[in-house]
This record gives sequence, structure tokens and C-alpha cells, in this order.
Amino acid sequence: MQSESRVVALVATGGTIAGTAARGDDLVGYDAGALSAEQLTAAVPALAGEALETWTLARLDSCDLGHATWALLLRELQSRLARPEFAGIVVTHGTDTLEETAWFLHRTLAAPKPVVLTAAMRPASAPSPDGPQNLLDAVRLAREPGARGVLVAFGGKVYAGSELRKLHGWQLDAFSAGDAGAVALVEDGAFRRLRDWPAPELHPAPVGEVPPGRWPRVEIVTSHAGASGRIVDALVADGVQGLVIAGTGNGTVHTALREAAARALAAGVAVVRASRCLAGGVVGTTDGALPHYGAATPAQARIELMLDLLARRA
Ligand code: ASP
Repeated sequence: MQSESRVVALVATGGTIAGTAARGDDLVGYDAGALSAEQLTAAVPALAGEALETWTLARLDSCDLGHATWALLLRELQSRLARPEFAGIVVTHGTDTLEETAWFLHRTLAAPKPVVLTAAMRPASAPSPDGPQNLLDAVRLAREPGARGVLVAFGGKVYAGSELRKLHGWQLDAFSAGDAGAVALVEDGAFRRLRDWPAPELHPAPVGEVPPGRWPRVEIVTSHAGASGRIVDALVADGVQGLVIAGTGNGTVHTALREAAARALAAGVAVVRASRCLAGGVVGTTDGALPHYGAATPAQARIELMLDLLARRA
């Protein structure tokens, strides 16, 4: 008989891992989130008889994820983490916004036990889906002694949630952690740790106390050849509260956008920059340059600015 602390809570939110297509060989035209948490675990024979508590929180294609789902997920995870019977928690999720949810949870959820996100690139109906192995690895990681923090189990690797980046639109090996690399490798069901489990970095924003409909509105604008800055003016006129400029290279921003950003700042809008490059983020700063959040991707920087604005408002 398993001890109580071996129980893993498993929450399904949708994604390709829970997706099914009408034809088994269709790897693109599927319904994301068609399967429930019970159906997902039933497809993994190695999980039969394991101590799991499953629930289906959402059946989303993660490209449609919204703040209300994050608020609900945060609340549910907090309440389960407080229960001593759980060794850890697994969250199944779509790959498209996995790095955003991972960052959001990393900054808002105190996780002294592992909270393991996992996903898949191939739907559950594929001849050779990647979801079942990723799910099995995630459940094992949720029980790994000493593990903690928001982690991602994907493709035989364990990433820190804060360092995740989706690199590829359809290949199996779709994720990386940029320069940081993986935290651990999965070797025949065991975890070979390459560095420490991620340390907590909780943001002070009172995110659980503010209804998601009142979270600050922050949008992303990309800098590119031929940028005009008019999109920034339109967003300011529309009442945006924060802007992330996804800059080129090391966070460089087209002059027209910089001028528009100055108008936005003068109107009281918070403006930061990030890099649209896949790795490296932004390093250093020059006089008068917009602030940045270092290695954060534009999507992660959007969350960070939203939390900063929420904290400032409190
Ligand atoms: N569109 C899907 C999602 O993010 C893609 C995936 O899960 O791989 O939900």
C-alpha cells in the first residue's frame, strides 16, 4: 500500500495532449482538449493503480487561454498544495502558451512541492503520441523526493517553468530553456539532475485578491522594419495600461516606436521592452532606454509588467 504522500493531483486544462482528430494520421486538424483527465491517465498503462486524484479544470486550446483560467488554476493549485496527502501536482496544458502559464505560476504560486506542467505536440489519436510518456514522466517528477517549484516535463527533459521557450511550431522537440538549459534529464524513469531545482521567486502582487477582469491591461507590440508607432498611439487612446515592446536584437526599438513609446509614457502608460529573439533576452542598458526584464520573453514580460502594475496599484 502506498503512503499518503505518494498521491499526485492531476489537473487537465486541454491542449494537444488531450486532442483527438477524426483520422489517426491527422497531426494538425484535431480538437484540442477533447479528453478529460481520467481519459488521459487511462491511456497510460503504467499509471494503472497509481494514487492519482484527477480533475478536468478546462478543455482549452491554450491559444485561447485567458486570465480567468489562470485565476481559477492558481486558486485550485494553492488549495491542493496545502493538503499533506499530495506529493505534488501535474498540470496538462497546451504547448502554445505553456511558457506563459509556467511563468505566471512561477511568480504567483508558492510551490514547496513540485508543480509539473506537461503537454504534447501530437494529439492523443496519433499513431505514436508523445503525450503518454510526457504524462508518465510528469507524474514521476511530481513524486520525486526533494523536487520543488514550477517545472515542465517534456520530451525527456525537465525545465524550470521560468526558463521555458517554445521554439518550434510542429516538431516533437519543440521546447528549450535558452542559455539556461534543462534542469534534469529523464533516464529510464529516473531523474538525472543537472543543477538545483528552481528557487522560489514570488512576486508581491496581490493577484489572488483581485478579480481577473480587473488585472491591468498590458499589450505586446513588435518592433520591425517599417514600424510606424501608430499602433501604440491607438492602444493608448484605447486605455491600455502597460506596453511591452518586443524589440529587435538586444531589445533595440525602431525610432518611430520609441517616439510613440515616449508619448505613451507621457500619457501615464508603463512601457518596457524585451527581445523578439528566441534566446538571450536583453542585457545591459543605455541612458534613456526603456526598462526591461532581462531574459524574459515578450509574453513573459507582459505578465511581469501586469504583476508590477497590480502591485503598484495595491
Ligand atoms: N494549440 C494547441 C494548444 O496549445 C497546441 C498544443 O497543445 O501543442 O492547446
